[in-house]
Amino acid sequence: MPKTANQNTKIVATVGPACSSYNGLLDLAKAGVDVFRLNFSHGKHEEHLEVINHIVAINEKYKFHLGIMADLQGPKIRIGDIADKEVLLVNGKEIVFTTDPTPGTAERVHMALESFPKEVRPGERILLDDGKLVLEVIETDKHKEVRLKVIFGGKLSSKKGVNLPDTKLSIPCLTPKDLADLEFILTQPVNWIALSFVRKAQDVKELADLIEAAGHQAKTIAKIEKPEAIKNIKDIIKQANAVMIARGDLGVEMAMEKLPTLQKEIIRLCITRARPVIVATQLMDSMIINPSPTRAEITDVANAVLDGADAVMLSAETSVGAHPSKVVHAMNKIIQEAEKHYSTSIQLASPSPKSKTFWSDTVCYHAARMAQDVKAKAIIGMTVSGFTAFKISSYRPIDSRVFVFSDQISILNTLNLVWGVQTFFYDRFTSTDETIYDVVNILLKAGKVKQGDIVINTGSMPMHKKYRTNMLKLTLVD
Ligand code: PGA
Ligand code: MN
Repeated sequence: MPKTANQNTKIVATVGPACSSYNGLLDLAKAGVDVFRLNFSHGKHEEHLEVINHIVAINEKYKFHLGIMADLQGPKIRIGDIADKEVLLVNGKEIVFTTDPTPGTAERVHMALESFPKEVRPGERILLDDGKLVLEVIETDKHKEVRLKVIFGGKLSSKKGVNLPDTKLSIPCLTPKDLADLEFILTQPVNWIALSFVRKAQDVKELADLIEAAGHQAKTIAKIEKPEAIKNIKDIIKQANAVMIARGDLGVEMAMEKLPTLQKEIIRLCITRARPVIVATQLMDSMIINPSPTRAEITDVANAVLDGADAVMLSAETSVGAHPSKVVHAMNKIIQEAEKHYSTSIQLASPSPKSKTFWSDTVCYHAARMAQDVKAKAIIGMTVSGFTAFKISSYRPIDSRVFVFSDQISILNTLNLVWGVQTFFYDRFTSTDETIYDVVNILLKAGKVKQGDIVINTGSMPMHKKYRTNMLKLTLVD
């Protein structure tokens, strides 16, 4: 089923060989993808560049506002190569991790992180291959070698990922690879830059500072996938422009049974702060191979919608899966049905007078409240920074569409990630009267509103001052 005009929850799709051609991307865009994610853990810059060029071309030709997210690998740790493709680690046996590059055996494996012996302490758990194997540190020489005990063995092959849930890592969040990737990304029309394995607000601040120093407009996404990030969650949400609940690594590093309630809590905190929040990983995992999702996956997507997520994300399902557009169609169906039962209980408390943006907060809040009272078809906002769109959306006006106008294409593409927001280009900011008339007309022509509808306009007066939103008006479409 294609996307409908009333769908509020957005879809992020990871790009990979299964969809990276112009036509592959176009198919997904037409199926209902709102934002494409480029995963910088894989692929060369030339390949990412080609994808970006395709998306830009599709946006121009079809007047879409597809967003582009660049996802930085962050301090992802991996083991080195294994000699005979794979070795079997046996429960109770000992194994040495060495920082010397050596072909791995069941007794000795290369650990690619140079500082590993200095980072870990005896008793800490080391998880391999998405937590399938569990080791425990016996001792470290704090120089080159760490002796470990196999707690939960199994097959281990080259370059498998390592999770250190108990370790307080000293390495910086932005690695040399991330900085090199950023140098490329910041020359591109990317809307969102996600940072993996964020531990504290400062990690996100460092990324934001680099973006700003480059004079780029991209906004930050903090990927929540470490216990330390959970501890610092409020500060991270405050610092970041958006959040991704990266359940792949989070589910390995935290006790797995905590995941469902953590998801709900992080979403609630993000909505309270008007930060878009993405639920990621394994939502439709079986569709990497199968043509339809499992009952559990259907329920998982619906629950992410009902929890209030701005967007649900596809990873391998679209990047390397067998049925990329089928997955998006299936997701649309689940989203549409779940949204009929969207709970109003996550609609929010009124804004705090202590907030620096209290005036515009309260205008946006009351726009959403009033939309309910007068059964408005739509809330219409104008934005320069995106602030108004984030705010209005955060009050989750479930019965009204949110139409946002801006004269900056990059902001429109950025806002495509945000719950319920539909974006329109508009660059004739003359007088408030005329603008209100203009934008309503644009919506009328686009079939988004019809005669007799009530809409709510928000805006800023006087217009040329470009103040934050300070005006609220009821309009009858005629
Ligand atoms: P990744 O992030 O796919 O970059 O690992 C998502 C996750 O960990 O869930
Ligand atoms: Mn991850």
